Amino acid sequence: MGIFSGLKDLLGQINRIDGSIYMQGKNFADVYARNIALEEEIAARTKELEQANQTILTLNSVWEMMNSSQPLSNMLDKIIHILHEDLGYTFAAILKINKRENASSYFEVKAYSENKSINKAFELISESAGTYELPYILNSIVVKAIIERQIYSTPDIKGILQMFFPALEENYLDNILSGIYSKSCTIVPLHKSNEAFGCVIVSSDRDGITETERNFLSLYANQIELAITVAGLFEEVKKQAVTDPLTGLYNRRYFEETITKEAERSIRLKQPFSLVSLDLDYLKKINDTYGHQYGDLAIKTIANVLKKEARSIDVPARIGGEEFNVLLSGVDSKGGFTAAERIRKSIENQVIDTIGGVTASIGVATFTEHSDRIDELIEMADQAMYQAKLNGRNQVKIANVKLESNWKKLAIETFIDIIAKKRIPIDEETAQKLNIKLTEIKNEDAKSNDILFAVVDMISQMYNKMYKEGTTKAKQLLAVMLAEKIDLAKEEIEKLRLAVLLYDIGNIMIPEDIFNKKEPLSEDEKEIIKRHPVIAAREILKPISKIQDIIPIIESHHENWDGKGYPGHKAGVEIPISSQIVLLVDAFYAMAQDRPYRQAYTCDEIIKIIRQESGKQWNENLVDEFIQLIKTKNL
Ligand code: GH3
Ligand code: MG
Repeated sequence: MGIFSGLKDLLGQINRIDGSIYMQGKNFADVYARNIALEEEIAARTKELEQANQTILTLNSVWEMMNSSQPLSNMLDKIIHILHEDLGYTFAAILKINKRENASSYFEVKAYSENKSINKAFELISESAGTYELPYILNSIVVKAIIERQIYSTPDIKGILQMFFPALEENYLDNILSGIYSKSCTIVPLHKSNEAFGCVIVSSDRDGITETERNFLSLYANQIELAITVAGLFEEVKKQAVTDPLTGLYNRRYFEETITKEAERSIRLKQPFSLVSLDLDYLKKINDTYGHQYGDLAIKTIANVLKKEARSIDVPARIGGEEFNVLLSGVDSKGGFTAAERIRKSIENQVIDTIGGVTASIGVATFTEHSDRIDELIEMADQAMYQAKLNGRNQVKIANVKLESNWKKLAIETFIDIIAKKRIPIDEETAQKLNIKLTEIKNEDAKSNDILFAVVDMISQMYNKMYKEGTTKAKQLLAVMLAEKIDLAKEEIEKLRLAVLLYDIGNIMIPEDIFNKKEPLSEDEKEIIKRHPVIAAREILKPISKIQDIIPIIESHHENWDGKGYPGHKAGVEIPISSQIVLLVDAFYAMAQDRPYRQAYTCDEIIKIIRQESGKQWNENLVDEFIQLIKTKNL
């Protein structure tokens, strides 16, 4: 019988009794007693009705939460909040069963009501902040409740605490116990698609639970199970989404999947494809001047152009805030350039409310003409786009041609990256000049090497006024000769060639007045100078993924053989051999040049100094080879 019809029935009974008093004149006291009993029952039923109402309200709020497609963790937090704050449980937690790699189970605490002593207990047992694991004990009441799909209630809260926190001392557990003011603890099992998910644990200041409460908790658990299932579905659907909500273009995830497939197709069919990388010009200014909604409007305008210009087989995608990629299937670099130019013009011709118009800078790279690796292709298109920016924006640039010699290709790409992405402070005009020089290098001849060395000389002169033209080339030659003399592996020599061009670039971040000071440096100033290997390695070069191999060489190029160098105080063979070579070659050329505080040394003087420091600054064996080398070559 439902609560409503039950109440109706009771009211009917009272009316009938009232009628019988009047009609039959029965003993008043008897009727009075029965009446009181019935009224008490009505009061009890009304309370049930209120509870049922509360249940409906509570279930309703869970239902609303589910419809708002919140992440599961938010939902579970809210469910706990309802149990603790609205329904008056002294403590509430949701535990999920997880498996470790070795297949053993544990409970993960997914949500719990804040409580000082419990918080502390979690902190004491957890290895990493925010994730709490509790033991899964097979014969315990908690696991029993889950396996049997039964709600269990127990007054033995301490027993449960002992099981979950075996490492905590007795008095600590007592402390928790007195902190949660509870007389009983109830375990409600949770299942998801018929598999055990975990449980809800609530404690209350009442002894045990009533039948009504049991029914309520059971209904509530059903709602939580539904919430868990729905949240899982939402997450799945979100993962499967392929479009960007603002523009309706494909999103990054879909783009990455597609380009991988396109590369496979391209190899199979021996057909090229081109990648167009596009970035809006001056979006920040648009945001700052007209507000974010106009920035968004500019983004949408570009997206519409891409949709309009793309053929049905092309894939236009929004990769980041203001970055777009278009994959042009079956198109070579010439076709890619034409398509990109068409897009650029169309963007330039759009009339946009309030803003007027926008422009974009575009880079194009072609598979396999520029690279046969997807990550590299994406990077090359991106780099070409940055070059378009550097050259004045609103233009299309094709990626640089692939060079055979690896160190040179890497060097050019690295310097273009450093300059275009402003990883070092260079004024716009110099940056453009250097960029033009670097992009001129298109072949393998020695003359093109000279252009590269000249660029490095120019950068070195920005921080060291006395750096002589031609020094970079000479340093690389000497380093390679020494490396060959000690039979360093070919690949290591390639890395060394590149390291020689980059090892001192951190100096550009050191204040000029310290670097070119005539007087002896103070201790503080020396410390600043000593930071340059770390600045080069960690700040300037670290973001450039393809040169990670040479970073250890650069970082250690001021370590001394005796451990008294910097920055890591490495000693002996701990120091990469290429770093040792760089240090020696660098010292040789430093001594051979004038410095603000001294004149250049002669070759004999240099040899003498190097010998004196052999075994201290430098590896003795390397010094012997080096001195032999400079004597025979007559340097
Ligand atoms: P540049 O020509 O060198 O690309 O200049 P820029 O201002 O476009 O580039 P910058 O990288 O300095 O700044 C990008 C700006 O784009 C900053 C960021 O707030 C804004 N942005 C990124 N995503 C969105 C978006 O979705 N909407 C809006 N309105 N602005 C965005
Ligand atoms: Mg931009």
